[in-house]
Amino acid sequence: MVLGIESSCDETGAGIVQDGRLLAHVVASSMDEHARFGGVVPEIASRAHLQAFVPVVREALSQAGIRLGQLDAVAVTTGPGLSGALQVGLAGAKTLAYTAGVPLYGVHHLAGHVAADTLEHGPLPEPCVVLIVSGGHTSLLLVRDLVREPILHLGDTLDDAAGECFDKVARILGLPYPGGPAIDGAARTGNPDAIAFPRPLTKGGDDPYAFSFSGLKTAAARWVEQHRLRGEELLIADGAAALQEAVADVLTRKALRACRDHDVRTLIVVGGVAANSRVRALAEQRCAAAGIELRVPSMTLCTDNGAMIAAVGDLLVRSGAEPAPLDVSIDPSAPLEYASLTPLPATA
Ligand code: ATP
Ligand code: MG
Ligand code: FE
Repeated sequence: MVLGIESSCDETGAGIVQDGRLLAHVVASSMDEHARFGGVVPEIASRAHLQAFVPVVREALSQAGIRLGQLDAVAVTTGPGLSGALQVGLAGAKTLAYTAGVPLYGVHHLAGHVAADTLEHGPLPEPCVVLIVSGGHTSLLLVRDLVREPILHLGDTLDDAAGECFDKVARILGLPYPGGPAIDGAARTGNPDAIAFPRPLTKGGDDPYAFSFSGLKTAAARWVEQHRLRGEELLIADGAAALQEAVADVLTRKALRACRDHDVRTLIVVGGVAANSRVRALAEQRCAAAGIELRVPSMTLCTDNGAMIAAVGDLLVRSGAEPAPLDVSIDPSAPLEYASLTPLPATA
């Protein structure tokens, strides 16, 4: 049984996984405390992790019906993420591993997001394309054996993440934080074709896997300003629907392109933005048309959580990976190369 700890952003998560089975999944979020600032405040997040850590771990152990001493290993997110937030999780995880006398594994946050899907849908098909879309990430990955092979980072956003774009545009439209759910709700009665928002980086010579969302924020601001100058009523629903359409179109187009280019039959979409109704619908529609299997985990496993870190830890333990030393450090800008700090030798 592996306990996974996640604290890279504003969620304190603890999960327990045994042989691919989810035994406990507990998350405390400080999201509400950041709402009035319109984004995550690092100091507030760190303090919230300190307060939530022990109760969240206790709750996870009780959900699984086990004592600390029954664990086989502890896995923890070592990066990327907010430095202070990561520090709290790592210090806590080291203490637990030392106390229980079990090995510690350092896990890359994005590998955790990838592994989340295995908890509901079983082992990852090899290879698969994974689209991670959250408030902090917009990444397209090509995954072979998650804990043995290097993860191929196909592309990323050059500026804002997709969730960040939803949050910022929501603010411009006068909708509450977090913006994603607010825009999703407002878009229901809007016309997605009302405004021709740009589709950044989708032209012929553009990097097929890179994303850019900061231009959408500017386009939305200009749209609001034009209405104001003309004294016209702002149709928030149309703005929300058109923005959502632009983001969903670009995300799914590039994800499917990646599947096609690499001859991959499975697309996995994870992260908070995977909750978006239009992103889901368009992904389903385009995957079905291309004969590609789409896997999207339930929302509580899509957003940051400890269970996904435990899922990677469980794979590492079962593959006989070396644990991390107890003096391991966090890496707030950890590049995605391997799922863990101590990769396994690749199979021939
Ligand atoms: P990280 O980037 O480290 O994963 P995070 O906290 O920024 O952390 P998540 O918790 O995965 O990311 O997701 C939060 C983001 O998802 C926010 O930007 C939020 O606006 C967005 N989001 C949530 N629901 C929806 C939705 N229905 N439509 C669009 N975006 C959504
Ligand atoms: Mg979050
Ligand atoms: Fe995340």
